[in-house]
Amino acid sequence: MVIQENVSLAPLTTLKVGGLARYFVEAKTIAGLNEAVAFARSRNLALFVLGGGSNVVISDAGWSGIVLKIGFSGIEERSESGRAVFEVGAGEEWDKFVARAVTRNCAGVECLSGIPGSVGGTPVQNVGAYGQEVAETIESVLVLDLKDCQVRELCNEACGFSYRTSIFNTCARGRYIILRVTYTLIPDGQSRIQYADLKRHFAGWSVTPTLAGTREAVRRIRASKGMLITPGDEDCRSAGSFFKNPVLTTDQHAELMKRASGKGLQVPSYPALEALHKVSAAWLVEHSGFSRGYSSGAAGISRRHALAIVNRGEATAADILSLKEHIQQRVEEIWGIHLEPEPVFVGF
Ligand SMILES: Cc1cc2nc3c(=O)[nH]c(=O)nc-3n(C[C@H](O)[C@H](O)[C@H](O)COP(=O)(O)OP(=O)(O)OC[C@H]3O[C@@H](n4cnc5c(N)ncnc54)[C@H](O)[C@@H]3O)c2cc1C
Repeated sequence: MVIQENVSLAPLTTLKVGGLARYFVEAKTIAGLNEAVAFARSRNLALFVLGGGSNVVISDAGWSGIVLKIGFSGIEERSESGRAVFEVGAGEEWDKFVARAVTRNCAGVECLSGIPGSVGGTPVQNVGAYGQEVAETIESVLVLDLKDCQVRELCNEACGFSYRTSIFNTCARGRYIILRVTYTLIPDGQSRIQYADLKRHFAGWSVTPTLAGTREAVRRIRASKGMLITPGDEDCRSAGSFFKNPVLTTDQHAELMKRASGKGLQVPSYPALEALHKVSAAWLVEHSGFSRGYSSGAAGISRRHALAIVNRGEATAADILSLKEHIQQRVEEIWGIHLEPEPVFVGF
């Protein structure tokens, strides 16, 4: 185990803000991981697990404990009862796994192409996009339980997946280190073309697009929105969508509609769960005075996506936080809705 000291965290994230980690270890094996955990415990250090750094905002003060980067690698593939089972190391790049699945013509994750970050990060917020989410294909998650330092396999139901949540970012936050994720995909399955952007892209096609064609389309649509990491492009120096789409009760939804019609506006919305309505956080942001390209010092809003707060160059975590709070405050004042941030705030 190599323990580094005072490691800059900003370059390890997609938003590129934040200070130093007092201690930093990359764990590639269970033995290494156990050693790092023992080191943290012996010194009473707070432990933060870092994947690809694409869903975090690190404070300018950094992290005074130990940051554990998960480097477990490997993609193993087998066939089981007509399904394709992939066991993937938590440290693998997510999009590399998606590319592999699509090359093998296995359906289930093609719409999740181009999402940055690690495989281990995907169960945490039940990553989703363009009509798919990982909860649909995750069979189980292998974890180190920090409660008793035992390795356990959690089945899909035990992960408590819901919209952008799981036990890993709610009731069991900080308890488990994810080591490996098992996905079950459908060999020679069909692409899922349900999301409006994808339907538009393939409008007029008489045949269902291939998985490879769908992956390509998703990546293209993402790139057009600054949601595909492109080196040097400041519109994707972000943590992706900064706010979750609010899920409202019928009463809250009716109130929102009333406020919108009073302004001569129509809110794009669609029913989520039975009596709930999911509304577009991007629409709320844009209709609260924050258009694409908005700037507040070195922090701003992407020119291609209203939901992405970006670092235009020299932004600090404080700049990002201040813009986030300004947006939340205006949306609450105008629409009576509290926007929940999506990224994880570290060291604040
Ligand atoms: C341009 C862009 C586009 C994006 N698009 C989407 C999208 O379409 N849909 C979507 O859902 N998300 C999206 N995201 C957010 C992000 O990519 C995902 O949430 C991703 O899964 C985070 O993985 P990560 O490895 O980068 O996690 P990190 O950012 O490193 O960590 C996020 C959280 O997960 C925890 N974590 C990470 N790895 C582990 C592990 N092995 N064990 C335990 N805990 C762990 C961390 O402790 C932290 O709490 C986007 C982000 C960007 C920058």
